[in-house]
Amino acid sequence: MRHTSGLDLVLTRDETAAAFSAAVPPIFQTSTFLFQTYEALEDCYSGASSADLYSRTGNPTVRLLEDKLARLEGGGKAIAFSSGMAAISSAVLGLLKAGDRIVSIRNAYSDAYRLFEVLLPRFGIETDYVDASDLEALQGRLEGATLLFLENPSSFVFETLDLRKVAALARAKNVITLIDNSFASPVLQRPIEAGIDLVVHSASKYLSGHSDVVAGCVIGHPTYIDRIRATAVPLLGAKLSAMEASLILRGLRTLALRVDAHTQTADWIVERLKDDPRIARIHRPGHAEPLPETLSGAGGLFTLTFQEGGDIRAFCNALRIFRLGVSWGGFESLVLPAAIANRQDSGPNALNAFQISKNSVRFFAGLEGASALLEDITTALDAAWHQEAVKENALGG
Ligand SMILES: *Cc1c(COP(=O)(O)O)cnc(C)c1O
Repeated sequence: MRHTSGLDLVLTRDETAAAFSAAVPPIFQTSTFLFQTYEALEDCYSGASSADLYSRTGNPTVRLLEDKLARLEGGGKAIAFSSGMAAISSAVLGLLKAGDRIVSIRNAYSDAYRLFEVLLPRFGIETDYVDASDLEALQGRLEGATLLFLENPSSFVFETLDLRKVAALARAKNVITLIDNSFASPVLQRPIEAGIDLVVHSASKYLSGHSDVVAGCVIGHPTYIDRIRATAVPLLGAKLSAMEASLILRGLRTLALRVDAHTQTADWIVERLKDDPRIARIHRPGHAEPLPETLSGAGGLFTLTFQEGGDIRAFCNALRIFRLGVSWGGFESLVLPAAIANRQDSGPNALNAFQISKNSVRFFAGLEGASALLEDITTALDAAWHQEAVKENALGG
């Protein structure tokens, strides 16, 4: 069952009226806004009016998107940012101070992990990592923490957790919960309904959906959103452009259809690869154990860990439809080998920590068609294993 209906995406009558009744709202491509009188400008500065002043702090196209995102996630308010990382860093810096401690899931998104490890310690904010499916371990770590950073599923190896139980534990200890919901999207998971305080997205992925935007957002209760808006929005200044807001509004119109198609394609491919002897492990929510209660589908991503004996470089080079590249969530199918993506990290995100093996490759199932994608993978597997056999023979093995 889908969590989001197309109705969440329809513009309200008021929104349409404010957008000159255009079916597709206009792009307010302006830096500054003009005032008729001294008093009108003064009211804007004092907060007596909510008129727009300057596009770093507010823009009508961006606000339409923010209102729509808040409705989609069932949160009170939303803020759009220039990237998913801007959303994560602005939320953290807008809410935390020196001496605060973050608890993060292991296998967090790589640049979120680097934010916690490289930048935040300079501001006196430390981070602990935990397997959040182990509720007892989590409870111990939460004592005295300020913020719990979650993903469900987690990056690269797609570990899952019981979101309702985790949210309740954090709430009991007065710890703010922030989840990166990019992998599920509001179509497959609505964390605020499970008791989570704040949701962030990389809108560069499913929300925009066409690989032509880098953007992010934070959604949640006004208590937190107002604090982020008052500090991180004007002072860090990572605002979204009106043009990109418009592209995301366009992408959202097909969000539910696209996420369903990516999910069904990935399910279909994984089902046909599951007994292939060259694959040691399939990492996908719902594959080895049931989907967690809050997640109604696994989405378009999965990771394959190959058996020793294949040549992953030859495999990747033999693919014709799946292209090598970071990101996901657009039309095109992509692969990302762990041996390249995780090579710089040490600690909990290092290669070989928590199942991230050098033999793992992450796949994103695009919209090119399931059977062509499966054939692409099996042809490349044949090529990679054949080459390895040829090499062994040449070595006299
Ligand atoms: C891509 C991604 C991000 C970062 O988003 P950007 O828009 O690239 O800054 C954060 N979390 C997840 C899960 C992502 O896939």
